[in-house]
Amino acid sequence: MPDCSVDYSVSPRSREDLRNLAAEIRKVLDLEDVLYFPIVELLDVLEETLPGFTYSIIDDDELPANKHAETNVYTGEIRIKESVYEGARRGKGRDRMTIAHEFSHFMTLCFLGFKLSRTIGGGKPRTYEDPEWQAKCLAGELLIPHDLVRGMTADEVVEKCGVSMDAARYQLEVASRR
Ligand SMILES: [Zn+2]
Repeated sequence: MPDCSVDYSVSPRSREDLRNLAAEIRKVLDLEDVLYFPIVELLDVLEETLPGFTYSIIDDDELPANKHAETNVYTGEIRIKESVYEGARRGKGRDRMTIAHEFSHFMTLCFLGFKLSRTIGGGKPRTYEDPEWQAKCLAGELLIPHDLVRGMTADEVVEKCGVSMDAARYQLEVASRR
């Protein structure tokens, strides 16, 4: 690697890396074998135990309609729309995944200090270097651990993991790949 890459350190995270990270997070939280990852209930615990992590619940009109939550990678704050927070609390899969997704941004970008490399010439980042891909992958593994859902149907995953049908199908498809 030439040192023209300045301070941007690229530490690519493959799906395998992110699976291991998800397993590590579950282990630390003593949730290794738990199918229903209590992401909402964990927010307060995380705020107390995870250095730099904070969250707030905001009015829905503070973010555009197509944005459900956001993570400030400079401050480590996750802002969640009230309707999304309430939906997640009631067990709505899509809202639970939104929060897991933002938490995953915090983990990969803030906590682990992983920064996206600037590609000289402005090319698109490779898949595994893309923060959105990383967050999607880590959140999927957190809520739907591939080793726990093996052999389940999508309906079972929806019910047991508390996720949307889309997420269940996607994760089962990914889990079946080799
Ligand atoms: Zn994202």
